[in-house]
Amino acid sequence: MSDRFCAGINPELIPQNPYLLLTPGPLSTSRGVRASMLQDWCTWDRDYNDIVQNIRTTLVSFASKSDAYTAILMQGSGTFSVEAALGTLMPRDGSTLLVLANGSYGERMESIATYAGIPVVKHTALEMQTFCLETLEETLKTDLSITSVAVVHCETTTGILNPIEKIGRIVKQYHKHFIVDAMSSFGGIPIDMDALDIDVLISSANKCIQGVPGFGFMLFKKELLKQCKGNARSLSLDAYDQWDVMEKGEGKWRFTSPTHVVRAFDEALHELELEGGIEKRHARYSANQLLLVEGMEALGFTCVVDKSLQSPIITSFYSPKEDAYDFKTFYDRLKESGFVIYPGKVSNCDSFRIGTIGDVYPEDITRLLHAIKKAIFW
Ligand SMILES: *Cc1c(COP(=O)(O)O)cnc(C)c1O
Repeated sequence: MSDRFCAGINPELIPQNPYLLLTPGPLSTSRGVRASMLQDWCTWDRDYNDIVQNIRTTLVSFASKSDAYTAILMQGSGTFSVEAALGTLMPRDGSTLLVLANGSYGERMESIATYAGIPVVKHTALEMQTFCLETLEETLKTDLSITSVAVVHCETTTGILNPIEKIGRIVKQYHKHFIVDAMSSFGGIPIDMDALDIDVLISSANKCIQGVPGFGFMLFKKELLKQCKGNARSLSLDAYDQWDVMEKGEGKWRFTSPTHVVRAFDEALHELELEGGIEKRHARYSANQLLLVEGMEALGFTCVVDKSLQSPIITSFYSPKEDAYDFKTFYDRLKESGFVIYPGKVSNCDSFRIGTIGDVYPEDITRLLHAIKKAIFW
């Protein structure tokens, strides 16, 4: 395995992180992923462009068995790719986007559309709930201006998993484009783009694929993308042009690409394959999450999201009711024990979040639960 690394470096020599990130990304990566960043690459060189092409093919193969999709990589954090996807997919005239929002990432898609001057309609649900499918159908039946529907798969704000199968069925019944922000789920939860007939799926390097931050990616229906030339509202975020250059240049990016991050992502994809693929990773994340909830409930904590809607990615818990509790102290105590958790983001309740993705295993969760047990004496 070490011949994959610069100068044959042994990943075992890479220092362990001082604490484990139990966050929704950037998250804890493996030593192998970190070791893979020790070489510089020339963006014009075949060695590097081959890595890019391998990443593109592998990403498509994880989502689809057909050849209907293509992968576009885009510099920046995940939001840049959401912005590129929406700005490139939506024609300048005669298009309206319906955004389904039950948390801050849904709200962010509405902001992106507003910034780009894309007409947008929003259908909301409470943060602890998912969408009313009857209302969605009624909206699509009555508002004929809507051309596309965008939804977040795992709403990282709360940890809710929105039912993209049911939503997609209605969206497709009314022949709309279906856009899925699968940022915090792709790679950790199986998604069959062919079966769901998703037009564009967006995710990023530093979530369930377990790479480091620096770029995002879009899986785009090829035939649709070919009709999107000239739509983009931004030069840097023109997904059509980015794809065109990547296709013709066989792995070339338009502007400077995050070369070390790209190499690390290639390593992360290799590790995902070694783990046994997305289903195996999903099983590990689910085991982490179930163990976490079981242990937290035994310690007296309560989950914010109903179990039927809960994802294996990140879990929100109500803060302890003791007057002496404050998040900062709790956070600091856990960090001293080697774990970094996440503040809550649910609007109307005091909560905190714990992520169960990344290079994290059930034995880590068991150690975390011991640390929490010690940290909650106020
Ligand atoms: C992480 C995330 C994003 C992108 O956030 P960035 O900070 O731009 O990487 C978008 N949507 C969801 C659901 C996310 O979890």
